[in-house]
This record gives sequence, C-alpha cells and structure tokens, in this order.
Amino acid sequence: MSDTPSNNKKDEDKDENSRHKARMQQQKAKVDERIANAQVEKGVLIVITGNGKGKSTSGFGTVARAVGHGLKACVVQYVKGTWPCGERDLLEKLGVEFHVMGTGFTWETQDKETDKAAAQKAWEFSKTCLQDPSIDLLLLDEITYMLTYKYIDLDDVLVALENRPVNQHVVITGRACHRAVIELADTVSEVRPIKHAFEAGIKAQKGIDW
Ligand code: ATP
Ligand code: MG
Repeated sequence: MSDTPSNNKKDEDKDENSRHKARMQQQKAKVDERIANAQVEKGVLIVITGNGKGKSTSGFGTVARAVGHGLKACVVQYVKGTWPCGERDLLEKLGVEFHVMGTGFTWETQDKETDKAAAQKAWEFSKTCLQDPSIDLLLLDEITYMLTYKYIDLDDVLVALENRPVNQHVVITGRACHRAVIELADTVSEVRPIKHAFEAGIKAQKGIDW
C-alpha cells in the first residue's frame, strides 16, 4: 500500500486507540483493586458544608436514594417552621418522618431564648433518632448553625453521633460546619460558590430554591 497522508492518519488513529485502551485497562485495574479493598460495611457520617448552593438538595437527594432502596429515613430541619419545602411534601407522602424545628424559631426577632428552646427541642428529637436502630438514614438539615450559635451543646452532639447504631447513616448540612464534626465524619464535601443566580437579581424560585 502506498504511504499516502490518509494511510498515515489511519495508523495514528490506531496507535492512539491502543494507547487509550492500555491507559483505560490500567485505570480499571486500579479502581478494581480499590473496590476489592473497601470491605467495611457501616453507617457513614456525611457532612455537606460550604457557602455554595446544593447542600440541602444533596441531603434530600440522599434521602430519596435511600427511600428508593426501601430504607427508613427521617429528617430533622433546623429551620424556621413555616419555611416551605418541596422535598418535605414529596417525601412525607413516601413515609419519611419530618421534624421541623418549627414554631417559635424567629430569625426576624432574634429572640435568643425562644430560638434556643426550639433548637434544643429539635435536638432532643434528633437524639431519639440517633438511638433508634430502625432508622437507616437521618438527615440533620442546617444543624451546623445551632452549633455556631451554641444553641445546642457540641459535646452532646459528638457523643450522640459516635454512639449511634452502627449501621445508621447520618447526613449533616449547613455552612461553617464545626471542625470537630468534620473530624468525626467519614465523608465531607464543601460546596464552593462560583456564581449564584440571586447575585444577578434573579429571585428564589419554587422547585429550585425551596
Ligand atoms: P439548597 O437548599 O438549594 O441545596 P443550600 O442548602 O446549599 O441550598 P442554604 O445555605 O441552606 O443553601 O440556603 C438556602 C437558600 O439560599 C436556598 O434557597 C438556596 O438557593 C439559597 N442559596 C444557597 N447558596 C446561596 C448563595 N451563595 N447565594 C445566594 N443564595 C444562596
Ligand atoms: Mg440548606
């Protein structure tokens, strides 16, 4: 066959294909080895923190994933009770128990004692969940702020998390997660804002922001 430019191109493509195949085989071997080495089965503590959008939606996504597998999930929302939330309406229909910190919590008036009492009540409920082996997944949405404001006791939270049922998964969301909780966690992701529609004057929207 004559050495035409088109034959040269075909040979180069063939070489590139075999190099790609070799690289992929190497990568697959590495991934397979790591999968084979990951043998521990236990409940994990996941923290989703940072200033970007996507923390609570990630937590609720995990709840949906667990419920899809027939697992029992429970959600405690450390937010003002009247805050609307599409996930709550959907997941409650699927049998997920919600506890919303609820009435009394007033960002507006910043009545510290009322807020603290509401936070502590939500934490007492969270603690009963952290002792209940029938709950496979517990989402503590926005609990980080309760630690920042010192409305609930850090050591109490750490002890309850450490002593939870061995197979229970917990997801914690919220900005500025305390470093002690990060240290205890198995998986920690920080959502970093690059842009947010709100900064361009686009208002919070149903189905996207709540
Ligand atoms: P989401 O519930 O959408 O996953 P989030 O849990 O990461 O958001 P929060 O700090 O709990 O974020 O904020 C709750 C609300 O604030 C949501 O409506 C969210 O869209 C909005 N929000 C989140 N990040 C930003 C940001 N960087 N700038 C402006 N608004 C934000
Ligand atoms: Mg959130």
